[in-house]
Amino acid sequence: MKLLEYEAKEILKEAGIPVPKGILIRAGDDACAGAAQVGDLVVVKAQVDVGGRGKAGGILMADSSTVQDTADRLLSSCIKDVPVHAVLIEERIAIEHEYYLSISIDRSSGSPLILFTASGGVEIEEVARTNPEAIRRSTVHPLLSDVPGYTIRYLLNGAPKELGPVINRLYQVFRSRDALLAEINPLVTTPAGVYAADAKIIVDDNALARQGISENRDLTDRERKAEEHGFSFVELDGSIGVIGNGAGLTMATVDLITVLGGRPANFLDVGGGADRVRVAHAVRLLGSMPGVSVIIVNLLGGITRCDEVAAGIIEAGVSQQVIVRLAGTNEEEGRSMLNKHGYRMLDTMEEAVAAAVEVAR
Ligand code: GDP
Ligand code: MN
Repeated sequence: MKLLEYEAKEILKEAGIPVPKGILIRAGDDACAGAAQVGDLVVVKAQVDVGGRGKAGGILMADSSTVQDTADRLLSSCIKDVPVHAVLIEERIAIEHEYYLSISIDRSSGSPLILFTASGGVEIEEVARTNPEAIRRSTVHPLLSDVPGYTIRYLLNGAPKELGPVINRLYQVFRSRDALLAEINPLVTTPAGVYAADAKIIVDDNALARQGISENRDLTDRERKAEEHGFSFVELDGSIGVIGNGAGLTMATVDLITVLGGRPANFLDVGGGADRVRVAHAVRLLGSMPGVSVIIVNLLGGITRCDEVAAGIIEAGVSQQVIVRLAGTNEEEGRSMLNKHGYRMLDTMEEAVAAAVEVAR
């Protein structure tokens, strides 16, 4: 489970990593009085479980005269479809430089993996694409209770030495909190010292009870619907809707879209034995996503019957083009039903994905 920024920052603070002075405000609270304890110049930050809040309008600058309005405005808005129930009002710090630091798990070596770059502030995927040699990475033997000095020196690569202790402290957080990810982006230097300006911690779901954490996340309307229907559903930000059965086939579809130059809008696994009603729900769910211009349905008929799937697609009748690849039980019946209603059914996954990518262009 991903902790919200203010929760992650409380943990960092406890571990001795400096964070800006801040106060959490909910609807109806007196933001002005709260901000007075923090400073005159502040940053108001939406506490929502989405990445890139800055670009999405979730991080706003304010001063004592505008902080109430700014907080109220954020508290009555949604950031990327997620309602804002709380904002963090923080002292505005004078950032000199933004660094990136994260610890995650490297599955191939079975060890914690530390990433550090002096090109922080932007998403790490962006740095990996445009300037990969700027990222330093090092695994730490999982039985070591501290990050060795030579690893810290290698990671810093000439960056200020005062960042070194932060690396080791974040490593303590990562270990003690059963984290899958502990990330500080940006980790900043200021005239007043080093600060974690943003923080993200993902706790292993299998450790929630041990960590005394209860699920707190706000689902979007679509996520709630998907949960009701028992779909495995993850929203992404592309334009090609994806429906598959089985996590492997669905994931392969998402990957192939990316390989062929398209952008998947989601991951949706309808599960085994999907009937017409479930398929219709799934297709309608994707049809309701604003960014979706085409939907690919990639199903393998085993217990799932292709004619049921076809009936579900036809019943849903969404406005977007639906491209279908069905194979297996009652394939011919499914095909003739779809043909009759003017749907494109392709024989292979590669053809179907290529067609969807073409439409999305
Ligand atoms: P994210 O967009 O969700 O990752 O939110 P961040 O907390 O990382 O904030 C985005 C950007 O806002 C940072 O990279 C900073 O450039 C800027 N920012 C956040 N807090 C401060 C602050 O206190 N002072 C200044 N000058 N900039 C800030
Ligand atoms: Mn950030």
